[in-house]
Amino acid sequence: MRLAERMSTIKPSPTLAVTAKAKAMRAQGIDVVGFGAGEPDFDTPRNIKEAAFRAIEEGFTKYTPSGGIEELKDAIIDKFKNENGISFDRSQIVVTCGAKHAIYALAQAIFNEGDEVIIPSPYWVSYPDIVSLSGGKPVIVETKEKEAFKVDPVKLKRAITPRTKAVVINSPSNPTGIAYEASELMKIGEIAVEKGIMIISDEIYEKFVYDGFTFASIASIDKEIKDLTIVINGVSKTYSMTGWRIGYAAGPKEIINAITDLQSQSTSNPTSIAQKASVEALRGPQDSVALMVQEFDKRRRSMVEKLNSIAGVSCFNPKGAFYCFPNLSSFYGKSFKGKKIKGSADISTYLLEEANVAVVSGDAFGADEHIRLSYAISSESIRKGLGRIEDALEKLH
Ligand code: PMP
Repeated sequence: MRLAERMSTIKPSPTLAVTAKAKAMRAQGIDVVGFGAGEPDFDTPRNIKEAAFRAIEEGFTKYTPSGGIEELKDAIIDKFKNENGISFDRSQIVVTCGAKHAIYALAQAIFNEGDEVIIPSPYWVSYPDIVSLSGGKPVIVETKEKEAFKVDPVKLKRAITPRTKAVVINSPSNPTGIAYEASELMKIGEIAVEKGIMIISDEIYEKFVYDGFTFASIASIDKEIKDLTIVINGVSKTYSMTGWRIGYAAGPKEIINAITDLQSQSTSNPTSIAQKASVEALRGPQDSVALMVQEFDKRRRSMVEKLNSIAGVSCFNPKGAFYCFPNLSSFYGKSFKGKKIKGSADISTYLLEEANVAVVSGDAFGADEHIRLSYAISSESIRKGLGRIEDALEKLH
């Protein structure tokens, strides 16, 4: 069977792959500590579940408008207004089957063959593949740890060509946990305006910020920037609703229309029940979010501290999301039982096989000196897993 050529441009998500491998080892009875999690380890709050039960009881179980129900669009509009200081109307909002599909549909809607899309590295694994699938060309602009993993405006400007259509900004970032200050976003926005390129702003980790950091959406800076920006967000992470598959995009009307049309011929609509639950998520009590962020903050601090106490490991303090991104490159070139560790893929395999600890190798995100550890797992597992990592790293010579 010959597959379509476009399939050669994508690979399965490496972050989901590591979770699957850890699960398979566990099924064999191996006690694996999994640091691969890309989702909160909390249950979906009760009030949200109840809204879904109600939707089922009331028979709200049929097709909805392709772009989402008005009630949810209005809740999203209010969220933007109250929390981000941005005003949108209904024609500027589309509800999607998760934020990932919002980005997928957006790419299909705006990129032509050969359009260049600037993606700062380290990047979320799906961006390059989603862009490639649309016929667009990912242009990776590297950011370094010493630049705090933030894209340098000069480098950004230099990467822009007449074929550049958009730049992707993900703040707070998966995998680094860095978050851009409003002043930094303004510089990026000004370049986009000057050069006439679009900004895809993935704000899915908006609520996961620490050390008093104030989140800003690039679309809130000024009207010119807003007119070039598509904001991507969703309920998956904030309300621990990854399985419900509700995300959304907000931006210029024509683009939102195109995404809606695309949806009408692909997914039809996001799940009716999950949409009702998302209205409750956005409009209902928000204390579960604060509690979750508080717990993540505690874990983040202890994880950073422990990682930095391990000889040869350095880990900067992430301001957002729920990942640590330590640098393990001092171990590259060392060996265990005659097998040399050449990069992040080797060290991740080594940690999985020798320490039964699952991490995601940095090369998946375009940063081979690092590995990604999620702290969306219990404090006890974090302690146990980091202890194992420390022991395993000591054995490398
Ligand atoms: N953007 C980023 C940066 C993510 O990490 C994720 C989830 N891993 C998503 C988007 C997708 O979220 P959703 O579950 O809403 O599709």
